[in-house]
Amino acid sequence: MRLSGNITKTIKTIPSDEQATNAKLLIRAGFIHKEMAGVYSYLPLGLKVIENIKQIVREEMNALGASELLMSSLQAKDTWTSTKRWDDSVVDIWFKSQLKNGTEVGFAWSHEEPLMLMAQKLVQSYRDLPISVYQFQNKFRNEIRSKSGVMRGREFIMKDMYAFSRSQEELDRFYAEAQKAYLKVFERIGIGDYTFMTFASGGAFTQFSHEFQTVTDTGEDTIYIDRKKRLAVNEEVFNDEVISQLGLAKDELEKVKAAEVGNIFNFGSVKGEQMGVYYAAEDGERRPIFLSSYGIGISRLMGVIAEHFNDEHGLVWPLPIAPVKVYIIAIGSRASLNAADELYNVLTEQGVAVIYDDRDVRPGEKFADADLMGIPWRVVVSDKPHKDGRYEVKARTETTLKHMNKKELLGLVKPE
Ligand code: ATP
Ligand code: MG
Repeated sequence: MRLSGNITKTIKTIPSDEQATNAKLLIRAGFIHKEMAGVYSYLPLGLKVIENIKQIVREEMNALGASELLMSSLQAKDTWTSTKRWDDSVVDIWFKSQLKNGTEVGFAWSHEEPLMLMAQKLVQSYRDLPISVYQFQNKFRNEIRSKSGVMRGREFIMKDMYAFSRSQEELDRFYAEAQKAYLKVFERIGIGDYTFMTFASGGAFTQFSHEFQTVTDTGEDTIYIDRKKRLAVNEEVFNDEVISQLGLAKDELEKVKAAEVGNIFNFGSVKGEQMGVYYAAEDGERRPIFLSSYGIGISRLMGVIAEHFNDEHGLVWPLPIAPVKVYIIAIGSRASLNAADELYNVLTEQGVAVIYDDRDVRPGEKFADADLMGIPWRVVVSDKPHKDGRYEVKARTETTLKHMNKKELLGLVKPE
């Protein structure tokens, strides 16, 4: 993308009510726009990061055999009554509204119940199972506090996957595969070293649920990590009995702040029984469908990464999710502008995502913006070095400059 004529703009003044580092940086760098507390819009660069995160998640969910779908944001009250979760005293974060005729509707905060009712229509017999589906969907939650920027939104993007199984064993197998897939997702996104599978309080059915917690001082959770075993225990279930049950040793656990980037639940047959969702088993018996659900906070991840990867100059995106790989700056005469134009075209044709800063502003401003936006490589096309066909290349994470010709540059930045 060319910066001239683009809505993307770095800004100097951030909303005075914004406290979180992730939101301050993302707003300043032109990635998000604040609508109100806990509600943000994604500008082109922010959207690219979101899409890059989604793509990694999508690939790993597809590898599990799950199919992508998209469910509605408006939900019927009846869907939620059998499990009692329509009640505001049970679920205290509902946003609700009414149709013109007075019928109550809710804004989606989760999709377990709607999905179960869908299964009731679409799944009849054991031959239809197992099935897993997932979506990327905006969830609405009337959170009491929303002071953590995009890490806690009142509207936010979640990946939610749901698996329907015929038995507890079948559920457990999928659950174990999904755990591995989650670890792979966080590894690929660039936070594998800081993200721990964490034992947390369970749902309706099991003693524990599994959270995926990324260590960060701005996280709202406290967990106890075992760095060697790469496991953790959430404070909410942390006690001597649990520690020994999990085969952990108290003096090897380290207390840290962390943000929950994912959470997976084993509902067993509880929801199927509550909601009357049955299938015809091979032996002709009617059996409840077994449900497990798997969330990842897509927009929270973007915030966690912004919190974790930054320096005094701005954001520092991990390569796999950076909005673009290269930031081109032309300095000097017409000739260097032409050379920059050409480089922009070549990289774009080669499938490398690029920002071309063709604005009529001082070079210093361009350098500062490239850093603030956190783009992995800055390429300067100036009169002198480009005469011998070389560009000045700097990695965002380094201070030294390298001079490279086009071939070397392509070798560096081109996707495999
Ligand atoms: P939390 O304990 O942080 O409120 P939760 O346990 O209610 O989250 P889940 O219902 O398990 O969240 O949702 C799945 C994932 O969605 C969470 O692991 C988290 O990453 C993300 N998420 C939940 N609430 C928010 C929110 N308000 N803003 C952004 N992401 C969220
Ligand atoms: Mg949770």
